[in-house]
Amino acid sequence: MKTYTCQECGSEFAKDQLDSDYFADKEYICISCIDFLMECGRDAVYPDHIYDSFSDWDERGH
Ligand SMILES: [Zn+2]
Repeated sequence: MKTYTCQECGSEFAKDQLDSDYFADKEYICISCIDFLMECGRDAVYPDHIYDSFSDWDERGH
């Protein structure tokens, strides 16, 4: 089976263990790294003033 090297953690993964959106762009990021990147990136990408539109605003105490 063909494997791909995750660009984040450097481990080898089969296609079904990679994020399909990135895969379509020929970027190979494994599912667990995607979860991590989403957690890290969300605050940076979306400033607080539009945060209220997100489904997890309850967690943030807004
Ligand atoms: Zn990874």
